[in-house]
Amino acid sequence: MLYQRSSQLFIEAEKVIPGGVNSPVRAFKSVGGTPIFVKSAKGAYLYDEDGNRLIDYINSWGPMILGHAYQPVVDAVIEKAKLGTSFGMPTEIETQIAELAVAMVPNIDKIRFVNSGTEACMSAVRLARGFTLRDKIIKFKGCYHGHSDSFLIQAGSGAVTFGSPNSPGVTEGTAKDTLLATYNDIENVRAIFKANPTEIAAVIIEPVAGNMGCVPPKEGFLQELRSVCDEFGALLIFDEVMTGFRLARGGAQELFGIKADLVTFGKVIGGGLPVGAFAGRREIMDYLAPIGPVYQAGTLSGNPLAMAAGLTMLQEIEKDKALFERLEQKTAYLEKGMREVLSKSNVDFTINRVGSMISVFFDEREVVDFDTAGYGNNDKFKKFFHGLIAEGVYIAPSSYETWFITDALTYEDLDFTIKAIEKVVVTL
Ligand SMILES: *Cc1c(COP(=O)(O)O)cnc(C)c1O
Repeated sequence: MLYQRSSQLFIEAEKVIPGGVNSPVRAFKSVGGTPIFVKSAKGAYLYDEDGNRLIDYINSWGPMILGHAYQPVVDAVIEKAKLGTSFGMPTEIETQIAELAVAMVPNIDKIRFVNSGTEACMSAVRLARGFTLRDKIIKFKGCYHGHSDSFLIQAGSGAVTFGSPNSPGVTEGTAKDTLLATYNDIENVRAIFKANPTEIAAVIIEPVAGNMGCVPPKEGFLQELRSVCDEFGALLIFDEVMTGFRLARGGAQELFGIKADLVTFGKVIGGGLPVGAFAGRREIMDYLAPIGPVYQAGTLSGNPLAMAAGLTMLQEIEKDKALFERLEQKTAYLEKGMREVLSKSNVDFTINRVGSMISVFFDEREVVDFDTAGYGNNDKFKKFFHGLIAEGVYIAPSSYETWFITDALTYEDLDFTIKAIEKVVVTL
């Protein structure tokens, strides 16, 4: 495959956009090479600027669960655009999508729409702090909740549990209010609570981690997290930006049977347009302005085009009763095929999967948290990534990312992918 035009476009982009991209992981920094520029996409396929077709396993990092340019969503956006693209005034469609989301997701009475997952998580944390009148939060190493200051935190030095900024521009003052815990380690969480018994407003977690590769919660971990939060009077925030409307109609809360106090959404809920949302019980959500004291706002929040895309997407998911079973079967088929070809090779590997989220790590050790996810971040992954592109298969350009399976994939596409993997693994 040739990437002459993409390379040229990247050179032009770098002159006027920092690093040539509007979000860092797109720049291929961790795998090397030049990012591929997309011209269009339909169903399970990307068509790039050099005329190649790629089977897409990122799907815009999750939103395109029904495939690219899904006709009902495209039609809804076009029809809505003809009526005006933004008003900054209430519209009926905002209530329609809110009613549907509240009906689909367990334990939420009210929902507020924003423009990204970052905004959703940032706002949920502010609301949790305002509601509990406490300052600190617990986040897990390797979980991603967007790029707001409170989340750009890394482990502090020595035995201290509070974090330090992991980006210039984040202040020490902000960092001291984010306590870092180890995913799947309830004793660690309990110890942090014991050291800060009345200061923790909320624990925020990806109920299935998807930003350190796919890392499932261990049996019982989320239940114990729920009870530790209750014991210390902290709120439990499920960041379902990735898992919401993907792992089940009601997301991870439904899948695992756990009640979160606040839930954040993004990705699928916007049907490919910039949408985020956060939701919870009435008494917490009514703490928001204009009826409550916690301020939160957005000029383009509830934008009609975004709401049209999101509403249509949720309606399609709601009415297709077999969708999640089909996604499970397709992803299980890919997992089985991948296991077979990798087992026949002499490459060490671990595959993690929950529903339509899957990732492969090139190390045989179990991956349960951020440190163990790092084992597979190696040269084999880079070769695997570039090898697959040459075969016409596109996965995320980092071993710390999950693959997102779309319903648009056929079993022929999956067989094609497994064959491609078979060819590439012998070169690793
Ligand atoms: C993608 C993601 C976010 C951030 O969403 P953006 O729309 O990129 O701001 C937050 N949390 C999780 C779990 C995500 O996967």
